[in-house]
Amino acid sequence: MKIIETLKKDTLSLSFEVFPPKTDSGFESVKEATEKIAELKPAFMSVTYGAGGGTSKYTLNIAKNIKDRFGVESLAHLTCVSSTRDTVLARIGDMKAAGIENVMALRGDLTPELMDSDRSQWPYHHAVELIREIKESGADFCIGGACYPEIHPESANQKEDIAHLKEKVDAGCEFLTTQMFFDNNLLYNFLYKIREAGITVPVVAGIMPITNAKQVERAVKLSGSFMPQRFKALVDKFGSDPAAMKQAGIAYATDQIIDLFANNVTNVHVYSMNKPDVAEKIQSNLNRILGK
Ligand code: FAD
Repeated sequence: MKIIETLKKDTLSLSFEVFPPKTDSGFESVKEATEKIAELKPAFMSVTYGAGGGTSKYTLNIAKNIKDRFGVESLAHLTCVSSTRDTVLARIGDMKAAGIENVMALRGDLTPELMDSDRSQWPYHHAVELIREIKESGADFCIGGACYPEIHPESANQKEDIAHLKEKVDAGCEFLTTQMFFDNNLLYNFLYKIREAGITVPVVAGIMPITNAKQVERAVKLSGSFMPQRFKALVDKFGSDPAAMKQAGIAYATDQIIDLFANNVTNVHVYSMNKPDVAEKIQSNLNRILGK
């Protein structure tokens, strides 16, 4: 099923993101974790794509397993930066053969090594080119793209960032998933601006439950997200007590989701980081709202 159908509904759609292992030895434990999350029967699950594509077989394997064994629709991520055209076309073919119907088309991060390399010969420099490639390949996927309520770190300003976002939507991107954010007002502001710019596709709000103090630093470094004072106070108070921090982080994420839905943001994607217990707790906190 194409997930765009789910995203158009006005009930709360709660979905989870998982990531593939880096090595063969990690595969079974990651698979088990993703299966436990699939047992929760979320609206869909996304499976990320390792930078450089070295773990692409695991992305596909996990996405296929979730769909075939648990009947949970999967969204397979695909990045294009530094990839050859042959590789991208092969990945598209693999996804089609595996019965995948939903693809998250991404550029991928520019690592310092990639920044220093000769990029003039690359076939793809931005996600929009991958979206066009998928469309031209004739693959009938529902295509998603990434968006940034706090601006992509490489963009000079939000106007420019939103103009490029519009190009992705015009190229065939049917929905957008946001980078994590910890202050819902940033999302409301962003939604107002993109709607004004003529971007009308569903936007899925990306929520990261911070369940240990170390994650805070990593999350800020990765995403550049603004940490509201209310969130910082929580980390100050509970950061040294792992069990309390986990409970507080889940409560904060739940509270964000309830506020989003109360403000008519119906699609929420939880960056569950392969943690079934966290996914389960957030879902059970919302069971009446989800009608479960
Ligand atoms: P783009 O849409 O190409 O945008 C990147 C930058 O280029 C922006 O500043 C944009 O404004 C600008 N830009 C876009 N088009 C043009 C143009 N035509 N000309 C000039 N400038 C342009 N990374 C992974 O490696 N694997 C994953 O599975 C993964 N999943 C993700 C899921 C989500 C929801 C998000 C938010 C990010 C994810 N990432 C993943 C990280 C992502 O690859 C990085 O954020 C990357 O830096 C940008 O990817 P993009 O697809 O948004 O790129």
